[in-house]
This record gives sequence, structure tokens and C-alpha cells, in this order.
Amino acid sequence: MNAIPAFDLTRQHQSIRAELDEAYARVVERGTFILGEEVESFEREFAAYCGVKYAVGVASGTEALQLGLLACGVRPADEVLTVSHTATATVAAAQFIGARPRFVEIDLARYTLDPRKLQSAVTKKTRAIIPVHLYGGAADLTPILEFARERNLIVVEDAAQAHGAIYRGRKVGSWGDAAAFSFYPTKNLGALGDGGAITTDDSSIAERARLLRQYGWKERYVSSSQGINSRLDELQAAFLRVKLRRLDAWNQRRRRITDIYFDSLADLDLTLPLRPQDGEHVFHQFVIRCERRDALREHLRREGIGSLIHYPVPVHSQPAYAHIKIPRGGLLKSEQASHEVLSLPIFPELTDDEAQRVAAAIRRFF
Ligand SMILES: *Cc1c(COP(=O)(O)O)cnc(C)c1O
Repeated sequence: MNAIPAFDLTRQHQSIRAELDEAYARVVERGTFILGEEVESFEREFAAYCGVKYAVGVASGTEALQLGLLACGVRPADEVLTVSHTATATVAAAQFIGARPRFVEIDLARYTLDPRKLQSAVTKKTRAIIPVHLYGGAADLTPILEFARERNLIVVEDAAQAHGAIYRGRKVGSWGDAAAFSFYPTKNLGALGDGGAITTDDSSIAERARLLRQYGWKERYVSSSQGINSRLDELQAAFLRVKLRRLDAWNQRRRRITDIYFDSLADLDLTLPLRPQDGEHVFHQFVIRCERRDALREHLRREGIGSLIHYPVPVHSQPAYAHIKIPRGGLLKSEQASHEVLSLPIFPELTDDEAQRVAAAIRRFF
């Protein structure tokens, strides 16, 4: 029997190859490669998709976080509260602009920032919170935003894994002061290379992000403020426009695959993901948790089934971030997650039959 990969993009690109080729040809013939009509159109279409007024295309999700934090007014030495159970990029972005990340424990049901742990983490120096919508499920935004509003804190959502996810009737990326999206190829909406975007409803934040991504230029060659080069390019924007039209159908297909997993794994001694009552998950990953994770992963590998671990080492245990003080009582749930989580194959082109084979292999293990 054929092996089942944890992830495969070639199937997706086969199905839309003609449209990608057409987008490529259009950009090459027009001859504009930086900040032209494809980026402008994509920004308009992605903002409309997220239900916000503005989207600003940048070079990656990491830089969307960096420029998003800066555009919202985060300054060097400001403390930024976020989680340790996330892609390193979340913490790296805050650290790299000179801010000071501080870790908040997660809620193991959602795998996202536990709002009840904010009170003991906040200090006079806290300026911002970055909730991460990990695995495609929204963080519990209402209490986080309430906490932030009472203390005048900035909220920048890390929505890199959650394009299209809904929390209480509204898309993620539309709740905070700003949000950062990644279009890394494996994300639910991925380019054929790097890319990212900042979304916001605030015109001054959008304007500052636009300045930051291109040397602070209001006028070409004249910097009115400091900035860098972090632009989404025309080719990637053209490819992203093709894929954005299919994002909802692809997310729907991901949920259909998870129906198979939920149905066939329900009675086993493992923890399945939360199916949110307050919104719609887009299952960037389908993450189960079990104490014998490593043995299960090895069993699947022997059966020709790929799986991944998101993430094996919490950020606070990585050498570059070991200097960050951790909360009293530690980050036990973040550590537990890193030891027990396993991401099963999930991508829109995975067939029902393949999902059933994955589930059957897991059942054999138990
Ligand atoms: C992918 C990712 C990022 C970084 O995005 P890049 O485009 O790879 O720079 C940030 N945060 C999370 C949660 C991610 O998954």
C-alpha cells in the first residue's frame, strides 16, 4: 500500500496548475514585480476575506509580527506576553524588535494562551499580548481582549495557522489591534515561497505598517521614518489570489477529514482536539495527545504513515530563549504538550480512504 505523507503540496498544485501558470504569465508579461497591482488586489481581497479594512502584504509571517508590533507602538524594552507552546517565530519576532517576551501558560484544551494566567504575568512594563491561534483554532479572545482593554494593552493576534478560522461569529485576524498572517507554503493559505500580511481596522496602524515595510518611504527615495525592506512580491500575490478563492472549500475539506478522525478515534485512550462551540476551527493541524506519543509515532512510521510534532521543544527550553524568566509554578502544561502532542496527516487533498487507513493504524496501536 502507498505511504501516507503527513503533508503534500504537489497534489494541490496539480489541481490548480493551469491557474498558477496563468498567474505567472500575467505577472511576467506585465513586468512589475514589486508592489504592483497583484499585491494591491490581494491586499483588498484578503482584507475583505478577514472582515477588516486593511491588509498589508509583507515578506513573511515573522516580519508581519515584527512590523505589526512596531506599527501598534511596541517599543524596545516593552514586555510582550505570549505563549511558549508555539512556533519559535512568535517569540523570535517580539525579541528581535527589542521587546521582552514573557511567557503565559496555555489552556491544554485549546492549546492556546490561558486568559486566567494573564493576571500573574502582567507587570508595569507590559505593553502587548500576542495570542496565538495554534493549529487553526482560535485562542479564547474575549477574556484576553477584556483584560487588555482594562489595562490599555495592545493585542496583536498571531494568525499564521488560522486563515479563515472563526471565533464567536467573526474571523480571527479581525479582533486585535492588528494580526499577523503567514503564507509559508504549508499554511492553510500558502504561497510558492515566503509571504505574510498584517491585518487591521485602524488606518494609522496600516499606514505605519506600509511605511515600515519599505524604508519609511512616503515618497520614493525619501524616508520620512525608519523602515526595512519587507515586501510581499507580485508573483506570490498572484499565486495567493488563485488560492484565496479556494480557501473556504479547502478548510471545509479539512473539517470533513477530521470528521473521520473524530468518529474513528473517539473511544481510544488519547485526547482528541477540542471542537470549538464558539466558532469554526480550520485544522491547520489535527493534533492528538497521548502519553505514549513517541511509540505511537514509531508505530505509524512503520506502517508508512507520516506524522509531525508541533512542537517538540517549548520555546522557553530553547537555548536562545532560556534567559526569559518563566512564571512561578512553571510552564508545566506547555511542557506536557511538547511531550504528548502528535499531528496526524491533514491537508485538503488527503482522501477519505487515507484518513481511514491512518485511523485504523492508530486503532491497531491501542
Ligand atoms: C509559520 C508561523 C509563523 C511564522 O511565519 P513565517 O512566514 O514562517 O515567518 C509565526 N507564528 C506561527 C504560529 C506560525 O505557525
